[in-house]
Amino acid sequence: MRPKPPYLLAMDEARCYHNYLHFLHKRSPIKTYMQFNSENGSSPASHDFELGISGFRFSDLFDAIKLAELTEIFYSDVAASEPVVGAALKKYIDTRGDGFEKRAASKILTDAAPFLSAFIARLFHIEPQRNELEKELLIQTPIWRFKFFVQRRAIKQYKADQLAALNENELWMGLTELRNNGFDATLVRDEELSIAELTAELLDAEEALTKDAGINASKTVAKVNRAFEKLKDKTFGRLFSQYVLEEDGTGDVLTVKAALHLVEAWSAAAFFSKSRRWYSFRTPHALDYQNLVHLIHPDQKLHNIMRGADSELRRRDGFKLTDDRGTMRDALFEVDYCLICHERDKDSCSTGLREPRVGSTPSVYALESSSSRPR
Ligand code: SF4
Repeated sequence: MRPKPPYLLAMDEARCYHNYLHFLHKRSPIKTYMQFNSENGSSPASHDFELGISGFRFSDLFDAIKLAELTEIFYSDVAASEPVVGAALKKYIDTRGDGFEKRAASKILTDAAPFLSAFIARLFHIEPQRNELEKELLIQTPIWRFKFFVQRRAIKQYKADQLAALNENELWMGLTELRNNGFDATLVRDEELSIAELTAELLDAEEALTKDAGINASKTVAKVNRAFEKLKDKTFGRLFSQYVLEEDGTGDVLTVKAALHLVEAWSAAAFFSKSRRWYSFRTPHALDYQNLVHLIHPDQKLHNIMRGADSELRRRDGFKLTDDRGTMRDALFEVDYCLICHERDKDSCSTGLREPRVGSTPSVYALESSSSRPR
């Protein structure tokens, strides 16, 4: 007898798996749960709702063959919406990532992620909720842009002696005057987000004016000019006039660059003084592998006694988790960091962090995790 081709073997296996799930369903607690619900007026059939993709029901998610069909629909959807991403994803899946440079693989997966998010929302009829959540998340986006601006641009403009000459309070006064008089729409936000929105708008204007990026910068330029007209004799007016002389360029470009100069100067001063506990100013801790759990010695005479710092202690009530999971901005900070990590091929969470090869077997000795970041 000729051996079965691999795809038939895979289908047999899938069917077996389906039967196995069916068997489990007949005798497992799932059935008890469904019976319980049925007695409470919620029938098993009501759980088997139609999914948002025509021809599929909830129970199909437990069927390997139907799942495979659903996956193909997802790939086709991606290809139809964004052919370049669709083709790259298909190639990646077909080869199981073999031969892909890690950075390229990361890019394909992160580019495909928004499509998967939309597909899942469609599947479970939660598109309105997803759209709501997306709106809330996008409001926070300027913070991550501002973080990039602070850490990749602003702090690099100043040497130690120049930093010492910056007057952080005066710069903050000038910056808040600009915000309150030119960019007052941002005042509905918290302080960090308002400065981040102002900066993002100035950066868009700078890009539009210097790279012809197809964005109209006239409104932003008018906001800066309006603030200057009102504040000629105030701190903002003085600082702005000084930066106009220090920057290259003319006309609108010069206006935007001088305003950004003020944001740079204040951000650099605040970053190094650590006067703000803003997400935009956070940087990762260096990892000390010999001291991963930070301990203190509360009694100087008894050095062997050690425990966690008081600030880290959390009371446990029974077996409940003590971690409050953080705010949405906490979560987005982690996501932003992961994206940077992927771009740089540093996602050691999936690969481990490897020592230089000793002999032929490298040993994994640690993982960089988000918990190594400052809180
Ligand atoms: S190593 Fe940490 S920061 Fe990097 S991708 Fe993994 S979890 Fe994110």
